[in-house]
Amino acid sequence: MLALSVDIEDWYHLPYVTGSPYSTYRDVNDFFKKWDDRYDYLSKPCERVLKLLDDFKIQATFFIVADIVDNYPGMVEKIVDGGHEIGCHGLHHECAIDPKTKKAIRGVDNFERQITVAKKKLELMSKERIIGFRAPSAYIAGWMVDSIEKLGFKYDSSVSVNSLYNKCDEKLKNVTSVPYYPVKGGLRPGEERDIIEIPWPYFKIAGIKFPTGGGPFLRFGGARYIKLGLYQSLKRGDAVFYFHPIDLSDEKFPGKFSAKRPFYWAIKGKTVEKRIRFILKNIDGELGTCRDIWEKMR
Ligand SMILES: [Zn+2]
Repeated sequence: MLALSVDIEDWYHLPYVTGSPYSTYRDVNDFFKKWDDRYDYLSKPCERVLKLLDDFKIQATFFIVADIVDNYPGMVEKIVDGGHEIGCHGLHHECAIDPKTKKAIRGVDNFERQITVAKKKLELMSKERIIGFRAPSAYIAGWMVDSIEKLGFKYDSSVSVNSLYNKCDEKLKNVTSVPYYPVKGGLRPGEERDIIEIPWPYFKIAGIKFPTGGGPFLRFGGARYIKLGLYQSLKRGDAVFYFHPIDLSDEKFPGKFSAKRPFYWAIKGKTVEKRIRFILKNIDGELGTCRDIWEKMR
């Protein structure tokens, strides 16, 4: 099964604008205090994503940054009305570990407090129990999985094993793209427990693992590249694919921040939407949500 996932965040949630040691604004609250221009570049592409999924008659898992509930009235309701699964993508999309040192930034207690608030916000809105988590910007550590297990989550989908980058706080040798039980206190495979990890897909050739989960790699690599990786990962077992509605945006994001990362957003908009449609049309096998994968493993 291929689980489809959509990460709901806006341009200012990205680590170069807010919520990381190198961001322009300390956090989203600081951003809203100082930003007096238009901030919403998410609503329009989000509508297009809902339409796209409707066209294919499929349900996806939406990992939502919980402050979206407050600042985009009606958006989460629309996603819920579409019958999609709601997952948690943090309260303000802040990195919980330092991208360089991989050490906890604000401590375990702060992380747990934030995620408790985020989970409650999303549960009030969706009237369902939230069981899925994806770490903001996919910076993930073993202690974070222990924390979310304690808070009632049943799966995490943040680990990406590949040869190009590592956002985990340890090197993972025995992890592939197949869902697994992480060991307590770490991300390595361990004994059966109450939470699973749904790692991201990759394409392996000549011993090199190329990440093909989606997001930036969908924008840079193209649909055929992603499809190869999904095809190979589905041969290993269940897999997950993700994209952001802002990947589909036709608009230029506020200048100063786009200029900081000139290549990051070089390809987006209709091209990316076409690629997603190509992938969904051409993928062999069943499509589902992350919850469906979790249910299969119970
Ligand atoms: Zn994100």
